[in-house]
Amino acid sequence: MIPCNFDYYRPESLQELGQAIREAPRPFQFLAGGTEIVTMAQAGEVAPKAVIDLKAIPACNKLAMENGRLHMGAALTLTQAATSGLFPLLGSVARRISDHTNQCTITLGGNICGTIAYREAILPLLLSEARAGFFRKGRVVEQKLADCFHGRLQREEETALLYLCVEQKYLSMPYVHVKKVKNEKIDYPLLTLAALKAPEGVRLAVSGLCSFPFLVECAALADPSRMPGQRAEAVIKSLPEQPRADSFASAAWRAFIMKQAVEDAIARLEGRGG
Ligand SMILES: Cc1cc2nc3c(=O)[nH]c(=O)nc-3n(C[C@H](O)[C@H](O)[C@H](O)COP(=O)(O)OP(=O)(O)OC[C@H]3O[C@@H](n4cnc5c(N)ncnc54)[C@H](O)[C@@H]3O)c2cc1C
Repeated sequence: MIPCNFDYYRPESLQELGQAIREAPRPFQFLAGGTEIVTMAQAGEVAPKAVIDLKAIPACNKLAMENGRLHMGAALTLTQAATSGLFPLLGSVARRISDHTNQCTITLGGNICGTIAYREAILPLLLSEARAGFFRKGRVVEQKLADCFHGRLQREEETALLYLCVEQKYLSMPYVHVKKVKNEKIDYPLLTLAALKAPEGVRLAVSGLCSFPFLVECAALADPSRMPGQRAEAVIKSLPEQPRADSFASAAWRAFIMKQAVEDAIARLEGRGG
């Protein structure tokens, strides 16, 4: 239960979404799965005067191949994305976020736009050069996800994420997904590594290691003349910030498991030993 009164809008088209955004009392929040909004409202951390539910908007719900691209609505649940089997790497990542019950409610858009820093669903999307469709000032604007995701999604206020699109060629590329946690299988990640074998070489994206998720930028990573261990060392040296240190793991431990995971992922994707 949300312990404050608020107006509820449930637009069924982009036109109605524009109208809801114009009319809603401020502050308002877009509502997707609601798992974070409800928890934060119960804790008194947010008190929206209105919520705009995105789940009835067709563009936010669609899951379909269109013109050589997989269209994934931002209001699809993690379970819908995973069970479709259309993007196996995304499915593998989605099946390890929270537990099965919550996966039936948490949405792709909520995972990417929410405040919990891990945002693991972004990893396969960054690796596959996904494009993101936004509803901004009454118009749909599409842009490359990597250009507007720097640790968190950079978007103007009152902008809704409508969908994500991935070119078909990325959906069947070989991949590796590893999630390392401290205690139980279901936990926040000490490290989540997603790797894709693209024609230009291995690509990596990581969550849990630093304070934000990121795409690894390291020229040595895709250099097949170097051994996986050497490339893993180079990746560690190229991190955008020091690994996190907290009560779950030291920075040195996180760097150690990252190096092992990178070396293993390269060896598996290239079919050779370390
Ligand atoms: C028990 C539990 C364990 C979890 N473990 C993990 C984990 O291991 N790894 C991980 O990555 N995450 C984890 N999460 C976070 C989770 O994946 C989601 O980030 C979160 O719960 C929000 O998803 P939601 O769809 O319910 O969003 P909501 O609660 O509906 O919204 C969250 C925020 O995002 C905004 N928002 C939602 N959709 C859109 C949109 N389309 N456009 C613009 N803004 C939008 C809302 O306005 C709100 O501010 C966990 C969550 C729970 C509850």
